[in-house]
Amino acid sequence: MPAQRLDGKALAATMRSEIASRITERATAGKRPPGLAAVLVGEDPASQQYVKNKHKACQDAGLATAVHRLPVTTSQAELLELVAQLNADPAVHGILVQLPLPKQIDEGAVIRAVSPVKDVDCFHPENVGLLAAGHPRFYPCTPHGVLQLLRRNGTATAGKEVVVVGRSNIVGKPLALMLMQKPTATNPAAGDATVTVAHTRTRDLASVCRRADILIAAAGAPATITAEMVKPGAAVVDVGTNNVEGRWCGDVHEGVWAVAGWVSPVPGGVGPMTITMLLHNTFDAAKLIDG
Ligand code: NAP
Repeated sequence: MPAQRLDGKALAATMRSEIASRITERATAGKRPPGLAAVLVGEDPASQQYVKNKHKACQDAGLATAVHRLPVTTSQAELLELVAQLNADPAVHGILVQLPLPKQIDEGAVIRAVSPVKDVDCFHPENVGLLAAGHPRFYPCTPHGVLQLLRRNGTATAGKEVVVVGRSNIVGKPLALMLMQKPTATNPAAGDATVTVAHTRTRDLASVCRRADILIAAAGAPATITAEMVKPGAAVVDVGTNNVEGRWCGDVHEGVWAVAGWVSPVPGGVGPMTITMLLHNTFDAAKLIDG
């Protein structure tokens, strides 16, 4: 029997309508809508598409949202000035600076300039530290989206062998942290799993992956995970987003669907969940800032 679908599109729709209801409740209580400011520097087509999708999802859920478009020639000082204005704006609860930035701008300096209470991407070192210590202010969007996708489809992570392929600061590393942690009242998404992190220096990736009850592919290379690398019945989450000759695909080869118990498709898996968790974080930031 082919694997069941971890349908991120459907779950994202459900979770976005839950967020929309909570925004309506806040409005009834006289509170302003959560506000997200997105900053887009330059004209990279993929970044433009990501920001467009995030902006539309915010509008649909009732968030107040604005996109600040700056030319590719923007200096670091100009971008830092805009971030300072957004930090000081009470109607802005979340700030998203779309990465990558043009080469004349130091990404780290911009990430550190965003107020940590408005850092809805959870990239600021203060928020990364809180996450690593098990006291998260925000969860990073893609890792949180992966965990919600598993959990809300009935796949528990506690006690499971989980293999994460990829160790980037945006996906693999924070996801591994979240998966290994013990859940507490202030860290409810923690996974309680036994976690292995694989990367390009991992010896015998196939046998490492075959140990996994839950296998997460975040390598950024098509067909990194093939059927013989998957334990029969395992849940496979495909974070990869690769454009091959104009078509989107993940890191998981289609043959995996014949072996796994669950697979998340690309598109329609982790992507919509990432955006949903951004809305979730912006809602939480509004509660944090406005009460
Ligand atoms: P990244 O910074 O390029 O990191 C990729 C990681 O995968 C690295 O740690 C790398 O190992 C490892 N890797 C690459 N090829 C491998 C292989 N053949 N075997 C084992 N490990 C391998 O990428 P990223 O930012 O984490 O993103 C990963 C993918 O997820 C990309 O396709 C990206 O577009 C996608 N993504 C999707 C979403 C979403 O919302 N759906 C969000 C973020 C990212 P080394 O460290 O040894 O180089």
